[in-house]
Amino acid sequence: MSAIAIMNRRQALQTTVLAAGALTGAASLYAPQAQAQAAATAAGGAGGTFVLPPLPYAVDALEPAIDARTMEIHHGKHHAAYVAGLNKAVAEAPSLAGKPVEELLRRLDAVPEAVRGAVRNHGGGHANHALFWQLLRRNNGAGPTGELAAALTRDFGSFSAFQEQFTKAALGVFGSGWAWLTRDGARLRIESTPNQDSPLSHGRIPLLGLDVWEHAYYLKYQNRRADYVTAFYGVINWDFVADRYRQTATA
Ligand code: MN
Repeated sequence: MSAIAIMNRRQALQTTVLAAGALTGAASLYAPQAQAQAAATAAGGAGGTFVLPPLPYAVDALEPAIDARTMEIHHGKHHAAYVAGLNKAVAEAPSLAGKPVEELLRRLDAVPEAVRGAVRNHGGGHANHALFWQLLRRNNGAGPTGELAAALTRDFGSFSAFQEQFTKAALGVFGSGWAWLTRDGARLRIESTPNQDSPLSHGRIPLLGLDVWEHAYYLKYQNRRADYVTAFYGVINWDFVADRYRQTATA
């Protein structure tokens, strides 16, 4: 096969993947992940069904709030391990083949018991981190606007009251887990989950999440989780969260 033929096949594959992403992008809560999955499937599924989505920015893009070394290890090692663990679990349960991770997490009761714990932990780890990378961006002090800002005021009283409650949730996680802003039907809710549990498993849609596992902050902040949470407010991509809020309005 000539080099040109290979290039054309690659180009065709890219076109197919982009088209699939365009069709499913509005409906998927994890569009880049869905595109990555489509690419893996189109490529014959080599390496497993789920693939580690690339970071949508450079590893040092969130400095100084989140340092480059933490990002490298967190994405390249921790998230990668969740992807590998999820692929191993799915390989052991053929009935799960081809199902998106959100669907697995929404219906853990439908996952065979032999792999349910692994899907909960590694599937949750994959989905949580895939969302986390997307909702981070240096915001230079900008906060939420539009419909999301109005909903935060409606459900928490004010943006600063929301921050207070979210911070309390993040600091209140004992051990490893996440703090969340979730959509619960028409309302917003602040909650936390232990380990890698996903709000999807409780019927909620995660809009904003903060990883408070020590692996997310220990290199830079050591035991000072409160400083990490404060810094997090400077790297929330509120445009992304607002889009997600709008896109899930009819969910
Ligand atoms: Mn993590």
